[in-house]
Amino acid sequence: MNFLSKKASGIAPYTAGEQPQDRKYIKLNTNENPYPPSPRVAEVLRALETEGLRRYPRPDAGKLRAAIALEEGVEPENVFCGNGSDEVLALSFPAFFDADGAGACFADLTYSFYEVFAAFFGIPVNIVPLRADFTFDLSAMQAADCQGYYIANPNAPTGVGIERDLLDDFVSSVPDRLVILDEAYMDFFGESCVPLTKKYSNVIVVKTFSKSYALAGIRCGYAVGNAALIDGLFRMKDCFNSYPVDAVAEAVCAAAIADREYYRGMTARVVSERERLRGELLGMGFTVPESRSNFLFAGRTKLSGREIYARLKAAGILVRYWEKPVLCDFVRITVGTPEENDVLLSQLYTILS
Ligand SMILES: *Cc1c(COP(=O)(O)O)cnc(C)c1O
Repeated sequence: MNFLSKKASGIAPYTAGEQPQDRKYIKLNTNENPYPPSPRVAEVLRALETEGLRRYPRPDAGKLRAAIALEEGVEPENVFCGNGSDEVLALSFPAFFDADGAGACFADLTYSFYEVFAAFFGIPVNIVPLRADFTFDLSAMQAADCQGYYIANPNAPTGVGIERDLLDDFVSSVPDRLVILDEAYMDFFGESCVPLTKKYSNVIVVKTFSKSYALAGIRCGYAVGNAALIDGLFRMKDCFNSYPVDAVAEAVCAAAIADREYYRGMTARVVSERERLRGELLGMGFTVPESRSNFLFAGRTKLSGREIYARLKAAGILVRYWEKPVLCDFVRITVGTPEENDVLLSQLYTILS
């Protein structure tokens, strides 16, 4: 007897990047930050009042929302927090899309979780291919029939970014559709569309503490948008999990987001390494779209993505590859520390020569 529902048996779940424990790798496969989080995080954890853990956390993550609102220049009512931005994105599907509606529109090469969430919630999808140079075809997206859009900016796994002015025009051109901007890597680009959430009622921005804040282990992300949209997310959260943000995550993330100075320096170091690494990869003959994120999408050499992945893994370096059309000729490499990047580059020289 198979007790699984048709949905559980039939769905193709998202596959996260591997986190192997067999040996110590130079880990450039899941876009984690190579640097530690703000020193204030350790202070918060040291001072943690374990007595407080006896109680449920704030169901609205009010303290963290206030800290985020301060940093983003909005009001707490414009902020929603979840257990990773993946959860915020997941809740956005039932909050803003109907199973019998025109569907969610997104690019063919983008964060693959969108397709999984759509399948899970039974939302139709309308997929618009990227252009040959991996940029978004915003006019084709505008012409697509849909209830709303998911746009990762910068995009994953390509790293390609869209300037805020272009998105301003796009959002204003589709006033009756919701535009969900996934800004997981925005701090490495610096063109956040949070200001557009004050100008337009049809845009919502989703961010995470996992990448630029070096807190992937904490699981916290958030959305910024007008109060009506934020209320939609709260309605879905309260049908699923009353307390997605635990007390530790709330305290840690509130301290981290307030340490602007620390993160500005750390992000600048990652960006400068990204540019150095891209230059070296181009010199080796890789095709590498200009990246606005903390990773590089590199490929079109004589070796497939899978071959490069396997050879690097044998040398103790993890990168990401996919068995999918177009993507199969590439690997996605997270920017590491200068030392890690040097090891990667010397291994790639060996592998390709
Ligand atoms: C990493 C990532 C996320 C998810 O981040 P979490 O907050 O760790 O769940 C969302 N969107 C994109 C495009 C990402 O790369």
